Amino acid sequence: MDKREEMKKIKDEIVALTSSPLYQYRKANNYFPVIGEGSHDAKIMFIGEAPGKNEAETGRPFCGRSGKFLDELLSSINLPRESVYITNIVKDRPHENRDPLPEEIALYGPFLERQIEIIKPKVLATLGRFSMQYIMTLFKASETQPTISKVHGKVFEITTNYGRINIIPLYHPAVAIYNQGSKAELFEDFKILKKYV
Ligand code: URA
Repeated sequence: MDKREEMKKIKDEIVALTSSPLYQYRKANNYFPVIGEGSHDAKIMFIGEAPGKNEAETGRPFCGRSGKFLDELLSSINLPRESVYITNIVKDRPHENRDPLPEEIALYGPFLERQIEIIKPKVLATLGRFSMQYIMTLFKASETQPTISKVHGKVFEITTNYGRINIIPLYHPAVAIYNQGSKAELFEDFKILKKYV
């Protein structure tokens, strides 16, 4: 199977994921699951939390307010959005944008792991604490569970079954929009990504 077919298989499985606690909510609102978007050969993979309303209505990740800000961050380092891959851990919209529940992360996480194996990025840029926690734990990046305020913008080298790559935890754009301090830090942290493109 080529990358496109493997990704399509993931999409088909998620579309039919009736066991998800978010499935009924998706159906009742005519929402789409949000699988991910971008280059299947991306060197950088951005991993957010879960789709919001705009994303669930269109099936595209980061296409609302935080997406606009993410676009700004990408432009600030001249990184075309099409050259990276953008996804979330949880692929369906949680009710009224509440935080994803542990069981939802556990259910959708393995799909994200398969996406990483397909794309084989050099950098996993996590956006926010949920994807940071999941990815840092999955790849045993740190002995202790770090807080995002301590480790944002730091580079963690990890081993995957396709080689050595880096995790770079970043603040979630939605949080940074309203907080001038983290906004400036997020722009600063993005500069680090330039090294990997
Ligand atoms: N926030 C996320 O974490 N992901 C999206 O796709 C949109 C907003």
